[in-house]
Amino acid sequence: MRMWKRRGLLPAAALLALTLPLSGSLVPDTAATAAPRITTPERFFGFPLGAEGRLARWDDLVRYYKFVADRSDKVVYQEIGRSAAGLPFPLLTVSSRDNLRNLDRIKQANRRLADPRGLTEAEARRLAAQSKPVFLLEAAIHSTEVGTAQVIPNILHRLADEKSTTISEILDNVVLLIIPAQSPDGTKWVGDYFNYTAGTNYARTYPDLYQKYIGHDDNRDWFMFTQPETQISVALQNEWKPQVVQNLHQMGNARGRIFVPPYLSPNDPNIDPITVQQTNSLGMEISRSLTAEGKKGVNWGSTYDYWTPSRQYMTYHGAPRILVEAASAQDLAYTYRSSDGGPIGPQEPDTNFIEPYDKSTWTLAQIVDYLDTSVFGALSNVAKYRTEWLYNFYRTQRNAVEPSADKPFAYVAPAGQRDPFATYELLRTLQTGEVEIEQATSAFTANGKRYEAGSWVIRYAQPYGRFAKTLLEKQHYPDLREYPGGPPQNPYDVTAQTLPMLLGVQVDTVADPFTASTVRVKKVQPANPAFPGDPGRGGAYLVGPESYGTAMMIAALQKAGVETFRASAEFSAAGRTYAPGTLIVEPTAAARAALQGVSRKTGIPVSAVGQAPRVAAERLKDHTRVGLFRGVNNIPGGWMKWLFEQYDIGFTEVVAGDFAGDLNAKFDTIVLPAGISRSDIVSGLSRDRYPAEWSWAYGVGEAGWAKLRAFVEKGGTLLAIGDSVATARQLASLPITPALPTDEHVFFSPGSILSQRFDTSDPVAWGMRPDTPVWFGEDDQAYDVAGGDVVSSFPESGEQLQSGWLIGGEHLNGKANIVKHQVGEGLIVTFGSEPTFRTWSRDPSKLLFNAIYHGPSTTVDAAALPGQLRG
Ligand SMILES: [Zn+2]
Repeated sequence: MRMWKRRGLLPAAALLALTLPLSGSLVPDTAATAAPRITTPERFFGFPLGAEGRLARWDDLVRYYKFVADRSDKVVYQEIGRSAAGLPFPLLTVSSRDNLRNLDRIKQANRRLADPRGLTEAEARRLAAQSKPVFLLEAAIHSTEVGTAQVIPNILHRLADEKSTTISEILDNVVLLIIPAQSPDGTKWVGDYFNYTAGTNYARTYPDLYQKYIGHDDNRDWFMFTQPETQISVALQNEWKPQVVQNLHQMGNARGRIFVPPYLSPNDPNIDPITVQQTNSLGMEISRSLTAEGKKGVNWGSTYDYWTPSRQYMTYHGAPRILVEAASAQDLAYTYRSSDGGPIGPQEPDTNFIEPYDKSTWTLAQIVDYLDTSVFGALSNVAKYRTEWLYNFYRTQRNAVEPSADKPFAYVAPAGQRDPFATYELLRTLQTGEVEIEQATSAFTANGKRYEAGSWVIRYAQPYGRFAKTLLEKQHYPDLREYPGGPPQNPYDVTAQTLPMLLGVQVDTVADPFTASTVRVKKVQPANPAFPGDPGRGGAYLVGPESYGTAMMIAALQKAGVETFRASAEFSAAGRTYAPGTLIVEPTAAARAALQGVSRKTGIPVSAVGQAPRVAAERLKDHTRVGLFRGVNNIPGGWMKWLFEQYDIGFTEVVAGDFAGDLNAKFDTIVLPAGISRSDIVSGLSRDRYPAEWSWAYGVGEAGWAKLRAFVEKGGTLLAIGDSVATARQLASLPITPALPTDEHVFFSPGSILSQRFDTSDPVAWGMRPDTPVWFGEDDQAYDVAGGDVVSSFPESGEQLQSGWLIGGEHLNGKANIVKHQVGEGLIVTFGSEPTFRTWSRDPSKLLFNAIYHGPSTTVDAAALPGQLRG
């Protein structure tokens, strides 16, 4: 890095007046040319970061961060948690010595601005003038976007070592928190793999998930908070209340060289308008910095929108998300060349693309350089206008806490919900996002409806009411087209996140003020139902099928080897009606321990009856052997694996080696997650391109494919999810055909929540409400059926859209979603849409778990139940 090159900013007027070339044209700062006192990254690593074909490994990057922190009084290195695979998760705090000494005071002041209830305007102004904004920089979120990891040592060195007014201004006026890798695991795996394959014929890019479970979806976890890395970052943001969060990424080569905000429409209307404008202005500031330094190909207002909270936590907490996406190099670290020798990317200038890129090559060094400029461009602005940043932050938060006539007064979740575990998970999610939750101490009336004591109240007017609202309300995504009458403008990600629908919790929106006596819930806990006494010989424990947490009950019973039945029909016992699918368990000590353990964790009630019911049932297979097909870099399977582990489902991953033997000898049920094609199974990873440690993902050939079919024919159960239904159709010529138009003008569902009708008497749909809505994404499909048993389908008429965006919903009318197929001795269940999409869709997840155990179970009559046989 050329140390003489200043990255300071000029006012716009001065910029226009410049006649010299912009790059390196600012007033030279002689001090900045002095010999550095802290070893430069180039000397430390032995090559300049971004050098052709070179990547610094994660372990060495961490060594450098510690090295600089040891030698600088402006840098603090800390480990603030552990990654999913167990690596330390580092945080770098960078600021002036004075600020580092006063971090607690800064934190307290900013927390006060974040919750301005009771704060006067004058106090807010005083705090904004005295305190320092906190700027959170997140790098290496996606591990193959290697420039975002490689740039951090350069940024750190410059901040720690350079003596210049630009740097002093930043250090004096900003507290910079750097997460040098949002996925330390992947940064290590990708860098080590690249170095390991150097000089070989093997592919250079690590082929698998670069976060243990969810790979690239690690930045789609910002409202369900499932992964440890997300939880660490959210805890950090909750602690510090940053005023700016900048995310470093890389994109493909089809467009400009770098994307910065403003975003493409739409903005989630729950993001405060001030936050949106802060985003826009800082994005423009970065554009100006890049252009002033002669960096061409800067683009805003394309591809990336500002819609889903799955990709942005901070925007509902007062801070803009500054997304920066640099184009990528070839094979991570080699020069990318245009195919025709001409300049890369579009060449037509536009107001959001002032200067097309004019070269035919693009390198990792340029990526590092562009990202570096983007960070210092943003930091300089926040440093220069620190008071305005803090005061505007206060204004967004003041907007949040002030009641508003056009916003709901509150959301109310009535006591006595159908699924206590879902209710707990919903409230816990909101509370992780710092939403204040109250619980009624006595009955009250709101909007003409009576709510019992114990109902939960979430007021909109509170610091993070916007976060609650975006998760609790129904989304109305605008009907955006490329041009009038044209195809839909693709949302960058999905369009719906309505938690009450995804989890199956009743939450009412109350527009007008009401009064209720409530207490603040400090920490949401699972319900605490009394566990019944021993029903005695001849009796049974009963657990209704309504909660999706019932899967954990079954898993625990399976693990303990407890004989378990599920009622095939509704029955009554001890004055209560039990739905089909109710668990009937003989009251042994092992059963009691298993049920009690899960009941404590989930709040799911267990009842006991002295006389076991007389009802036909399914007897679950003891120790059902569950296989989850492992595809390389298969994100849906990764999410599923995480869920299986959370629920303690006894399962093993199905890998290539398993196809050497008899699949029926190993598995009762095999789950084929979305995204697994016939080619993934048959061809898999190439032996020539990937070394032996990937042999688990090598293709199993036609012989393996035939074994998968034989597995079903000989009695195995195969579950095919989402687009893997096409794979199952190829495997077994199933009597279903895709029913949806392929033209996006005609039908389009980019990740929305849709209506559904369930046959709740079918064992796959036990415990569902007949009209539980389902997730439906871009790659999902609905079917015309010429055989098999339809478990769920779309309503014959009426509105198919529940939340999000849908074009051509009428094409879904009456089409099938979940279908059961008898194939030989076995069963294939096809799920047209993903019942466990990103694990957000939790209520429908019981469909998957029902099917897993249903296939291998046996039908028994009432005489086989506990009590009847042994009573
Ligand atoms: Zn990315």
